[in-house]
Amino acid sequence: MTDAAAPGWKIQCVSCGHQKSLAEAGGVRIGGSGTKYSLGRCSRCRGLRIVKIHRPSRP
Ligand SMILES: [Zn+2]
Repeated sequence: MTDAAAPGWKIQCVSCGHQKSLAEAGGVRIGGSGTKYSLGRCSRCRGLRIVKIHRPSRP
């Protein structure tokens, strides 16, 4: 599972909406909960973008 390092966390580009798992993006879990914003490189629009890091609640 690629989710092991950061279970449930997603990283989403605010410019194009592209989303993938934080672990897949090479990130680590920040800890706690809620939504954080950071600077990251988006693989879709290929640039430095503001990315939203969040953990969607699971059903
Ligand atoms: Zn993007």
